[in-house]
Amino acid sequence: MKHSIIIAPLLAVLICTTSCRSLQPTQSAERDVFAMDTFMTMKAYGDGAAKALDSAEERIHELEAELSVTSQNSDIARINRANGAEVEVSHDTALLVGAGASYWRDTDGALDISVYPVLTEWGFTTGEYHVPDAAAIARLLERVSGEDISVDGSTVQIPADSKIDLGALAKGYTGDEIMAIFRDNGVKSAMISLGGNVQALGSKPDGSDWRVGIKDPFTTDENMCVVSISDKAVVTSGNYERCFTADDGRNYWHIIDPSDGYPADNGLVSVTIIGGEGLRCDALSTALFVMGTEKAQTYLNGHTEVDAVLVTDDARILYTDGLADKLEIMSDMPSEVIARD
Ligand code: AMP
Ligand code: MG
Repeated sequence: MKHSIIIAPLLAVLICTTSCRSLQPTQSAERDVFAMDTFMTMKAYGDGAAKALDSAEERIHELEAELSVTSQNSDIARINRANGAEVEVSHDTALLVGAGASYWRDTDGALDISVYPVLTEWGFTTGEYHVPDAAAIARLLERVSGEDISVDGSTVQIPADSKIDLGALAKGYTGDEIMAIFRDNGVKSAMISLGGNVQALGSKPDGSDWRVGIKDPFTTDENMCVVSISDKAVVTSGNYERCFTADDGRNYWHIIDPSDGYPADNGLVSVTIIGGEGLRCDALSTALFVMGTEKAQTYLNGHTEVDAVLVTDDARILYTDGLADKLEIMSDMPSEVIARD
């Protein structure tokens, strides 16, 4: 009798410790960072989460120091000042400038990292917006030279009067680098947003998909749809980010069509790319925005490794068939599927 009185509470404690341990929530850590001219948020789950976030934050600042077009000591600033000479750069810079050159070829010139002088003339780099006169744009277009960017190992060379910027690619690559750091630290589940570039590692800690909202480009404060993902990036380029209304009453935005030097206005107001690699999603969201409705669909037909949600300027949502059971549309806009072979 005496024994059972002692054993009962002991058993209760044992059962509680075992079951309480299995009920313990997964450890998680969060971090907000302001870098690359944007707000970034990161949340990681697992024992290594806090350490992973420290390393990720360090890496973000390292990449910013290498890649920023405005900081005097960055690799990009040195390339832009080199007057046509070869410049020794970091592995990251060489990789990204090389990616810029190969996406130029792959997207028929829609992505062109040397469009920077035109972008500057419009004031998109300083916030001092104005509509340049046609002659100034024509002059600056002569300096846009995606085909003349060369990378050889860790050496980059661009023409003397060219200037490049990696604004269309840098955040996508940063997302990939953060995912690698998370994996190295044993994190199995994480979600980051780098100023709207969303990227997920694995699934949610409960095993379900992450749900990522995609903004309605016509209202911008509401989501038009939600996409379910795991281990993927979701990257949007839209005409509502960094834009201004000029004296002529028209809106102008920061994605430039390298074929004419004006903000790309080829039928699309937003392009979201969903795929496994952040860099690829970032490059293609910008490039397909420039391509416009028809060319973007043709490109997607040949590249089934990525999915996309396009919004046209006449308010239609076009999405690739791979998203059929992954996309929940809340908007009233009519939607159509881009069917691929
Ligand atoms: P994203 O927000 O990823 O679409 O990138 C837009 C940024 O890329 C702009 O703010 C510019 O810095 C740069 N950019 C604009 N137009 C182009 C273009 N056609 N090709 C490459 N970069 C561009
Ligand atoms: Mg981009």
